[in-house]
Amino acid sequence: MLRVCAVGAGFSGAVIARELAEKGQKVLVIDERAHIAGNCHTERDAATGVMIHRYGPHIFHTADDRVWDYIRRFGEMMPYVNRVKATVKGKVYSLPVNLHTINQFFGTTMGPAEARAFVESRARMDIEDPQSFEEQALRFVGEELYHAFFRGYTRKQWGVEPSQLPASILKRLPLRFNYDDNYFNHPYQGMPKDGYSAIVKGILDHENIEVRLNCSYESLSEEFAHVFYSGPLDRYFRYDLGRLGYRTLDFEEVRGTGDMLGTAVMNYPDEDVPFTRISEHKHFAPWEADKFENTVAFREYSRACGEGDTPYYPIRLLDDKKLLDQYEERTRAETSVTFVGRLGTYQYLDMDVTIGRALDVAEAYLERL
Ligand code: FAD
Ligand code: UDP
Repeated sequence: MLRVCAVGAGFSGAVIARELAEKGQKVLVIDERAHIAGNCHTERDAATGVMIHRYGPHIFHTADDRVWDYIRRFGEMMPYVNRVKATVKGKVYSLPVNLHTINQFFGTTMGPAEARAFVESRARMDIEDPQSFEEQALRFVGEELYHAFFRGYTRKQWGVEPSQLPASILKRLPLRFNYDDNYFNHPYQGMPKDGYSAIVKGILDHENIEVRLNCSYESLSEEFAHVFYSGPLDRYFRYDLGRLGYRTLDFEEVRGTGDMLGTAVMNYPDEDVPFTRISEHKHFAPWEADKFENTVAFREYSRACGEGDTPYYPIRLLDDKKLLDQYEERTRAETSVTFVGRLGTYQYLDMDVTIGRALDVAEAYLERL
């Protein structure tokens, strides 16, 4: 019996491998990196002992019971609520934009109804169906809050004007007229006690799964019954039609003693600050943060992803969408390959959506057998 291959040992590859393995399929999971868990990889920092999110901060949040149950099968999730602050022109504000932010920013003491009416009076209520990021911002928070919190950050993060980006990017963030500063609306939120890599290790720990690291798909010569490919879609086709646009991140490490930020994430929307945010990773594990004498934080710089860089965020501008359609057309001829995950489908997928889709893909494959 030929084996199945999962290219990539992130959540996509691992979850699909596990589902198939439990139904008796033999699966080879490969990753060209030296570790499992893809971009969700966590490891203890040798100098401080702090659990580091190697490819940027990852907070698990979902409204999907099936996914919440699934992840907790493989490790303990600790209570964690993401609360983000922003430094704007020398002042610190609460995010996402909530009643506290509005009162801080305008120097007011408004209640919920008053603040709603106030923001609406400054918002572009004439924009009926916002299409771009900019229209969405102007429609819901108005010019002043847009300029302070979103315009600069978004230009730094995406490298294009917010008028060229889809409204969907901003729709990820809540706008609240109360003092709730939880960054997410989902009912379930948490942080894995032993890190994401431990969860993925648990998922991959099955007698029918072989994991091979430092191994690229391109270097394999084995034949497979089917391939689940979670690498970059354009790379699979050797970039024949051109490169899909991605943003990559550079992380600048900052070390210190004690507590540097007093919180996990501080955003910097001002355009004269070159980085977008700083994250201090001990605060992602509040249950153990006090144990560590020293601390480590990372400044995040976003830039265009070149050849040889790690692709992080799919940009999905109009040109990318056209190219994506052309590549998707090519995938239809690849009947023994299923393209999955953030890179394989060129979509901005959170972990919970990635896991949910991987479960669906595995189920559909097993049904076809
Ligand atoms: P990946 O994790 O990217 O895994 C793909 C793997 O495939 C990689 O390890 C790669 O090395 C390997 N690979 C690729 N090509 C090949 C090849 N040809 N041969 C061999 N191996 C190959 N989600 C949340 O829910 N909450 C968050 O707070 C959050 N924060 C994020 C912050 C950042 C900065 C980024 C970039 C993403 C964030 N995400 C977050 C999204 C999360 O990272 C993804 O949902 C998740 O990583 C997707 O898993 P995946 O398996 O599809 O892809
Ligand atoms: N954003 C912003 N200002 C902020 C935080 C976010 O303008 O202080 C915009 C930015 O365009 C970002 C998007 O909102 O890409 C989504 O924010 P989120 O925090 O979800 O980004 P992620 O954690 O996925 O990088």
